[in-house]
Amino acid sequence: MKIEVLVLGGGPGGYSAAFRAADLGKQVTLVERYPVLGGVCLNVGCIPSKTLLHAAAVINEAKEISSYGVSFDSPKINLKKLKASKEKISKQLNVGLSGLAEQRNVTVIHGLGEFLSANTMIIKTGDKTEEIEFEQAIIAVGSQAVKIPSFPNDDPRLMDSTDALALEDIPEKLLIIGGGIIGLEMATVYQALGSKISIVEMQNQIIPGCDKDLVRPLMQKIKKSYDKILLSTAVESIDSLDNGLKVSFSGDQQSEIFDKVLVAVGRRPNGHLIAADKAGVKVDERGFIAVDKQQRTNIANIYAIGDVAGNPMLAHKAVHEGKIAAEVIAGHKSQWQALTIPSVAYTDPEIAWMGLTENEAKEQGIDYDKGAFPWAASGRSLSINRKEGITKILSDKETGRILGAGITGTNAGELIAEAVLALEMGACVDDVALTIHAHPTLAETFAFAAEMIDGSITDLIPPKKR
Ligand code: NAD
Repeated sequence: MKIEVLVLGGGPGGYSAAFRAADLGKQVTLVERYPVLGGVCLNVGCIPSKTLLHAAAVINEAKEISSYGVSFDSPKINLKKLKASKEKISKQLNVGLSGLAEQRNVTVIHGLGEFLSANTMIIKTGDKTEEIEFEQAIIAVGSQAVKIPSFPNDDPRLMDSTDALALEDIPEKLLIIGGGIIGLEMATVYQALGSKISIVEMQNQIIPGCDKDLVRPLMQKIKKSYDKILLSTAVESIDSLDNGLKVSFSGDQQSEIFDKVLVAVGRRPNGHLIAADKAGVKVDERGFIAVDKQQRTNIANIYAIGDVAGNPMLAHKAVHEGKIAAEVIAGHKSQWQALTIPSVAYTDPEIAWMGLTENEAKEQGIDYDKGAFPWAASGRSLSINRKEGITKILSDKETGRILGAGITGTNAGELIAEAVLALEMGACVDDVALTIHAHPTLAETFAFAAEMIDGSITDLIPPKKR
């Protein structure tokens, strides 16, 4: 069998690359090791976690609305049904993807692919093997959760994100190792379902890549509702006992027994799992494959996209890269030109940021203006019973051009899109301030933050120009 384009990996990056290449007239085969398309994101990541986070948000809102004089009984949680709803949504999307592949004449092979050379791949499906010859290949094999070798990884009470999303039970006491996005999103879910949550984070801040002022509202909220949040603390050991997992921490922190522990300390790219060396593709020690702006690896007919092609490991980056690789293969002059990749933590409150962070601006000695609008002054935010949010814009002091933005609060993940567009369009603070935003909306806080910089804010006293 000889084909034009082989895409290895059927996650969001891989299927987008395959579909775009097919739409551009290429004959495409998509190889996926699992029986369904969609990868981690659709099956054991973004989508199921958002389904559970929706349930968590409803539980929390129902509780919080009692301050408005509307009270509900405590929720009755049917874990089986909740799991089934989550699985139904993934399945619906799986089926949709298979249909889209079929309509485009993309051949899908479910099997484990490994390179034999720069033009051939062997695919193992059960006990059958098949060899495929290809002209061009796109590697989209993603990443896997980092495991800490000294932990009792065979103990089912020690979970990774896939285990946590499987929602086998609701542990009474849950420790989450790693205060990054996965750790905090799963904490949000399990806390709403009734677990007592503790978090241990090595750095001195949760979500260490994000500015402190954006993280603060979340930190203040979870400090009240979680059992413990241990910062600048490491886990030294975990012992499997009959009555739980005994965890010892660094420093003076007392060891403690937990019913379950979730390890969410990052993800590792899968570059070493595909015999890339047989194709001559260079994979670094960590498993990343270096690519140029057109997603090409060191081997001219082989491309890499998504998690395996470098940080950040985000589905929307993978999709963008997948389309570039497909277009380049089809002869277009596409290349990576995006100015930023937005980050979103779907916590409660959500945190979203894009472009330059304030930490980076300081480190790089960039002269910036900052406008930060507190949501306590937003009528819309107050009316939905939330006042802890913040919308922040950083702009170039000379030109007024938007350099970065961050939003913490309800729907921040949706609201950040305007900031990304503003950055991509080269917008200045005035452009945002002079754009009429509907009132009352959370979106208008983006314009208010711009007005905090140009001094035209009327919903607060304008801050003195720095
Ligand atoms: P992460 O890198 O975002 O966070 C891991 C955290 O663990 C960091 O804060 C790190 O300091 C801490 N850590 C590392 N080793 C530790 C140790 N031994 N003890 C205590 N803390 C330790 O990784 P993640 O949360 O596992 O997520 C993995 C990837 O998936 C990331 O790239 C993330 O952006 C992505 N992801 C994104 C989303 C989203 O976009 N909403 C959701 C889930 C995952």
